[in-house]
Amino acid sequence: MTPKIVTSFIGGEWVEPNESSHKIKIIHPADEQHISTLYEADTNEVSNAAETAKKTFDSGVWSNASVDDRKSVLLAIKDLIIENKEEIAEQEVMNTGAPIAQAYGRQIPRSAMNFEFFAEFISQASSPVFDQNPDYITYVRREPIGVAGLIAPWNAPMALATMKIAGAIAFGNSCILKPSELTPLGFVPFMNLLKKAGLPDGVINMVNGRGSVTGTAITQNENIDVIAFTGGTETGRVIGAESGKTLKKIVTELGGKSANIIFSDADFERALDAAMVAIFSNNGQQCLAGSRILVEKPIAKEFKKRMVERARNLIIGDPFDSKTEIGPLISKEQIEKVMSFAQTAEESDDTNILCGGKRCESFQKGYYFEPTIVETKSNQNTVCQEEIFGPFATILEFDGIDEAIELANDSEFGLVSYIWSTDIRKIMRAQAEIRAGVVWVNTPLMRELRAPFGGYKNSGIGRDGGEWSRNLFTEEKTVSIPLKDFPITKLGEND
Ligand code: NAP
Repeated sequence: MTPKIVTSFIGGEWVEPNESSHKIKIIHPADEQHISTLYEADTNEVSNAAETAKKTFDSGVWSNASVDDRKSVLLAIKDLIIENKEEIAEQEVMNTGAPIAQAYGRQIPRSAMNFEFFAEFISQASSPVFDQNPDYITYVRREPIGVAGLIAPWNAPMALATMKIAGAIAFGNSCILKPSELTPLGFVPFMNLLKKAGLPDGVINMVNGRGSVTGTAITQNENIDVIAFTGGTETGRVIGAESGKTLKKIVTELGGKSANIIFSDADFERALDAAMVAIFSNNGQQCLAGSRILVEKPIAKEFKKRMVERARNLIIGDPFDSKTEIGPLISKEQIEKVMSFAQTAEESDDTNILCGGKRCESFQKGYYFEPTIVETKSNQNTVCQEEIFGPFATILEFDGIDEAIELANDSEFGLVSYIWSTDIRKIMRAQAEIRAGVVWVNTPLMRELRAPFGGYKNSGIGRDGGEWSRNLFTEEKTVSIPLKDFPITKLGEND
């Protein structure tokens, strides 16, 4: 059942609602009904959360717990997420409008997997020993940093936030999560299962509210040592600048406008299936969407025809219907933003809307937008350069690999890239020359948690995943110990 109100979760307890708090209405995007109310955490409440997290950290109850103990708690959290999958998925869909099949089938299992992954990772991780100098042994200790501020976006709330939470606590840190003000609901059942999993109170805390208020209070707080942020590029700039003032360690995972390059020698049917998944899953609201489709000229006409047929055939509807493939966009602001890009495409001379481009007329209520495909002649058009974050693909034709690579790299972003070809020489050249943090060859959306994930250029700074999350959430301490006595210069013995 959807909670009527959502407050902060600090020290293992829900904060009592304070009527003087700023309140934010939580809206179900499919029918625009007000389903819950968020009580915003102000600077004081964020300070309380940070102090609680710091005290918990300093107490050693978690930061000094053995790896085996931490591992078993993380695995218990994983089991409890799976046990409560229905409830968490339901709240997530209530909030985001993502199709239940995708929330239940992919995002909530991924949230559980994040805890399992880091549980296994910490039990296997090792650190280097330097013994080249026969007189010393030097080794590297990894210690938790302290308190992590985790700022998450609305598009895949649980999957993205739990990657940060699991990474932070696995290495012994305490943390404070701030979900998007639009999407706090899935975290209510999640926070409620932590005690049962055996996690000490105060290790995971949550504050809710607007980025400009609650988020800023996190980036400015002196008790917070590290920030892991996922969100838009402009917000990333602000957070980077703000966190710099208190010299916090920071990772930013930002926007994308990823090229999906389809060469004429590709397996056409698989490339088509994958292009649909890459742009239309999660209602097109994903950072790694293959939103800029580049198709080689000989197959372009057929590819456009077939993709448009498929897009027109997508099942748009109630996100709680298991058959639904596209649900509503998250909010009124988001659908207005996506519509403004459709307007740009409508007015430009170098674009042609092949399908969609407007609100779904069959729905009286809800932020439903028609799956949209726009063919463009220039990669410089706004619809090819800006992140739209909706079910909105552009298709541009190219002639040969040189042009494909040039177009793929002609973007301020560099998050992921997709290459479809059966020619290994083309694949090897393209994967090397494309400037993006991840390249997927003949596959859509393959997230390998052991490998680094993050972007080039304006798609972010730093990486997460296995070793890279460890780098973010730990300090490295180099310890040198002599293996025999050696002469030490006797300063001050000058007689
Ligand atoms: P956003 O507007 O940048 O917000 C992200 C988070 O930052 C929210 O919790 C937001 O709070 C908070 N925030 C906003 N201003 C802040 C400030 N001044 N200080 C501290 N926190 C602040 O992004 P979004 O619209 O939620 O998410 C969509 C974006 O995320 C897209 O650009 C997408 O590409 C990107 N994304 C990137 C990845 C990746 O891995 N690279 C993954 C998913 C999404 P409020 O929203 O409550 O104001």
